[in-house]
Amino acid sequence: MRPDILNPLFAEISLFKGIGPALARPLERLGLARAVDVAFHLPVSWVDRHLTDRLDMADAGRVVGIELTPVDYRASGSARAPFRVDMVDRYGNHVALVYFGKNSGWPRKLLPLNEPKYISGKLEAYGDTLQIVHPDVLAPDEANTLPARESVYGLSEGLTNNRMRDIVAQALSRAPELPEWIEPSLLARKDWPAWREALARVHADPSDAMARARLAYDEIFAGQLALMLVRQSSRRRRGVPIQGDGRLRAMLKLPFAPTGAQRRAFGEIEGDMAQGTPMLRLLQGDVGSGKTLVALMALLNAVEAGMQGAMLAPTEILARQHYETLRKMASGLPVEIAILTGRDKGKVREATLMGLADGSIDILVGTHAIFQEAVQYKALGLAVIDEQHRFGVAQRMMLASKAERSPHLLVMTATPIPRTLTLTYYGEMEVSRLDEMPPGRQPIQTLVMAASRLDEVVEALARHVEGGGQAYWVCPLVEESETSDQAAAEMRAETLRERFGNRVGLVHGRMKGPDKDAAMAAFAANRTQILVATTVIEVGVDVPNSSLIIIEGADRFGLAQLHQLRGRVGRGDKPSTCLLLRGNALGETSRARLALMRETNDGFRIAEEDLKLRGAGEVLGTRQSGEAALKVASPEHVAALVDSARDDAHLLIERDGGLDSARGQAARVCLYLFEKDAAVGLLRGG
Ligand code: ADP
Ligand code: MG
Repeated sequence: MRPDILNPLFAEISLFKGIGPALARPLERLGLARAVDVAFHLPVSWVDRHLTDRLDMADAGRVVGIELTPVDYRASGSARAPFRVDMVDRYGNHVALVYFGKNSGWPRKLLPLNEPKYISGKLEAYGDTLQIVHPDVLAPDEANTLPARESVYGLSEGLTNNRMRDIVAQALSRAPELPEWIEPSLLARKDWPAWREALARVHADPSDAMARARLAYDEIFAGQLALMLVRQSSRRRRGVPIQGDGRLRAMLKLPFAPTGAQRRAFGEIEGDMAQGTPMLRLLQGDVGSGKTLVALMALLNAVEAGMQGAMLAPTEILARQHYETLRKMASGLPVEIAILTGRDKGKVREATLMGLADGSIDILVGTHAIFQEAVQYKALGLAVIDEQHRFGVAQRMMLASKAERSPHLLVMTATPIPRTLTLTYYGEMEVSRLDEMPPGRQPIQTLVMAASRLDEVVEALARHVEGGGQAYWVCPLVEESETSDQAAAEMRAETLRERFGNRVGLVHGRMKGPDKDAAMAAFAANRTQILVATTVIEVGVDVPNSSLIIIEGADRFGLAQLHQLRGRVGRGDKPSTCLLLRGNALGETSRARLALMRETNDGFRIAEEDLKLRGAGEVLGTRQSGEAALKVASPEHVAALVDSARDDAHLLIERDGGLDSARGQAARVCLYLFEKDAAVGLLRGG
């Protein structure tokens, strides 16, 4: 249960003063529903108020603070034109205060003629007159209550910065003093303020780095603590020691020898699985590094020991592909592999459920349907999660609680994230890295082109297809919305069909499952040669004959995502090309990022550089990160603070595993503040 002290922060802001239905949409778009959301909606920048007493000395374009006197009203003829109040400074310079959509009674009352007021707002040149739209109005003797620095917030249509500041002020007024959870000596060393003060300080002065660092630390600490609790609770659970005898693995007929990295990773997994505490291991390996084989070996290890294995994929497409791959690799082995996704209904589903319950199915592949309530395993020994970044810690925990004896857990990710982020998101896990590629990989040449040269791109595509090749065409992320992605993809498919007819296939996230499968299957079988897609093809999809990938709007993707997309090619026996189409006006950072893509194919390097290049924002990208987005902490904060947060969390758990001490209780508050409720639930009697 959330501690009472946090209740005011979790109140809905629809209860705030002055939040009418008109603000509901813009606030929702920003993800602001409760006071706590607003409290952590930290300002993104600031403007310094230009304090002056003469309009003719003030700069248009800046926020000014100035004493002015109303001398006239200019009601407008039409209802839609604004109401204006003519103001003068004490030297006789004029400025108009402009009120849109207000009835004129309100500004008239606020600004009685000939009564001096202290006015603050953005001074704008409008033709050859000056104006300030919807200013702050104070009594002259209140002028000093206005901070010299004005915070600027992330906004959305229909929400002004002034409104936002007002909403923030209301949220802050509800923010309680909270008990201190930071280790006292660390707090002293950093000279950080207490939580509430830090929050108020950042809102008042966005440049207050020290206060911001404290809030960032809190968030990172909560994350680390939550991961430790997951780890602690999983350590407490009993698992089943699994030691296969190797007979199934010996039967595998592979056309290649495992790489050293694959052997090493598998050795580590085998070692973990032999233990009585459940394995929690992350297998990190760049696209194409051969994670599937490692997974299969681990699954067979479980089956040899009479247990079952399950493999979870983030999408239907990937689940089907894994299913096919595993069956192919394991063909000739006495191993029953089945698939279960949300689309399997009726008799087929019943039969699969039966097979799982009676143990006749050894390995189940599927989407998260495979861990639903109704799915009962006879003896689940190992769960493999592919492309973990789609799943959150909470889902990992749900998995772990599935069996009385917890299954061993292997998480695989192709997102080569930097070490600091690995700690942040997978801190509870051991890590194996596949840092060696299978031999004989064909190089991928990466080119960056302006989107305005689309005709040339289409010509290159035509030559490629005429030569027997296949290609992906990835459509840009128009907005963070699947609908617009879909529209972009549909339009692109249409224009390409004018040229290439039915050689063009289309797949996007909103298509019905069977249609998606059909489109993928047609492409895999080379019945279509060009596959127009949204990022649903991002992870895992494997069509070796496709050696060209064209990515539209490449500057809008995260680098890790681009790298993943690029990994769709370079899988066959032909050299491959990745064409990154960029917008025409590119900022310096975007330019540097695309140049980096051109320069290197090393996923870990890309991830490290991306972290450096993007001042803010996250390397994981919201699209692929599930819960991963941090609200407060920047990547720089993470890099600087994750180690001490981890140590601190570790020490606290070591001394006070139940979080019962005074500081433990405070740490609980911190966990709830960052909504790690599930982690607190793992505490004994928590
Ligand atoms: P990942 O899932 O890590 O992106 P996959 O497991 O799909 O990579 O493997 C990519 C390709 O490499 C597959 O076609 C696979 O058969 C092949 N492969 C895997 N291991 C080896 C190896 N040791 N030697 C040669 N090819 C390999
Ligand atoms: Mg894979």
